[in-house]
Amino acid sequence: MPLLSIPEELLELRASLRQFVEREVRPVQEAHAQEIMETSSFADYEQERLKLRRRSAELGFWTLHMPEEVGGGGLSYLGQVVLHEEINRSGLFMAAHESVLPVVTGPTLVYMDCTPEQRERYLKPLMTAEAVTCFSLTEPEAGSDATRIRTRAERTAGGWRITGRKHFITAGDQADFALVFAVTDPEKRAKGGITAFFVERDRPGFQVTRRQPTMSPWQNPSELTFDEVEVPDDNVLGQVGAGFYSAVKGINGARLQIAGAAIGTAQYLLDRALDYAKARIAFGQPIGANQYVQGMLVDSYAELEMARLLVYKVAVEIDEGADGRRQAALAKLVSTEMVNRVADRAIQVHGGNGFMTEMGIEAWYRDVRAMRLYEGTSEILRTNVAKTLGL
Ligand SMILES: Cc1cc2nc3c(=O)[nH]c(=O)nc-3n(C[C@H](O)[C@H](O)[C@H](O)COP(=O)(O)OP(=O)(O)OC[C@H]3O[C@@H](n4cnc5c(N)ncnc54)[C@H](O)[C@@H]3O)c2cc1C
Repeated sequence: MPLLSIPEELLELRASLRQFVEREVRPVQEAHAQEIMETSSFADYEQERLKLRRRSAELGFWTLHMPEEVGGGGLSYLGQVVLHEEINRSGLFMAAHESVLPVVTGPTLVYMDCTPEQRERYLKPLMTAEAVTCFSLTEPEAGSDATRIRTRAERTAGGWRITGRKHFITAGDQADFALVFAVTDPEKRAKGGITAFFVERDRPGFQVTRRQPTMSPWQNPSELTFDEVEVPDDNVLGQVGAGFYSAVKGINGARLQIAGAAIGTAQYLLDRALDYAKARIAFGQPIGANQYVQGMLVDSYAELEMARLLVYKVAVEIDEGADGRRQAALAKLVSTEMVNRVADRAIQVHGGNGFMTEMGIEAWYRDVRAMRLYEGTSEILRTNVAKTLGL
């Protein structure tokens, strides 16, 4: 097999996803073109997104990445990268951000630790996109060093009482149930003392305390408060004390999916910048005829090509059995740093127009900034890679 050829069936899958996006997602976004030109988003964004998720689930895209034993498509990591790249390449924010393919607020490998009964109760509605979840780990005092979380779960007769506060939780305000990580043994903490719990939205004491607006027009995580929330034993995911081990199960997938999204977004922004460089005239010629402008475009092109090669390669390595720790960290690090540079150059090539909301470039510049923070900051990813190099 030639180095990094994409299998034929994956190309077909990508083509059918592209069709879905063009036929059913683009019209939704275009129906709000005026409002989006003014604000980068529109009022019914969240509701429309939920509808698209259900449609994506009906067509089978939403669960492609899940194992076949739970009704998923058993898609390879390379496949996940290619499909996340595809939805972002469209340049439609309605296709990105978990409208068509989930990352953390739908079904993930973490849910493979569910008991058969929990699969019915929690995983099944996530697979059909009837339910939304959120991954509640980060706290005001514990981000990169998640071992420092303070949320406590204490034993009661037949269950647990959870008290604590989480913040920056994606879809925290929309989740039907949260997956909440809490300390069950303060001595052991990450080494057997943190447990994952399902906490339904209507449990007394569970509150979405506030939405947290961000730089991105499309990402508004929430702060969640748990005030003596009672849950039964049945709400423990996996073994008591093994919450951290469950959490890491999903991490390679999420990092590769973000890497795919970064590549797709970079391709979109590069294409926009190239078109503009050919069309915009200054000093009697297209601005793309100037070597300074060419330099920006060629640098973006070169960095994108390098990142794509790397991400595809490491995805294949994981598919072939690598444990993925180094590979997924490297993929996310390289691709998300790259897309931030590409977005910055895309604005520069567009000049003042690039800075204007109506051009639809600057919103992506703001949006991709978060990619260097969640699912491991770029610095933490470097420390992950350093460890695998024996440092
Ligand atoms: C848009 C968005 C959505 C998010 N969604 C979720 C979610 O759904 N669920 C969830 O649980 N969390 C979520 N997060 C939280 C995210 O995972 C954390 O922000 C991230 O882990 C970093 O933690 P922190 O913000 O506390 O920064 P800190 O850990 O305080 O880090 C601050 C700075 O110090 C650096 N640093 C820290 N430790 C080291 C080290 N050992 N070596 C070198 N540098 C270091 C960091 O890289 C960073 O530059 C989200 C964050 C954002 C921005």
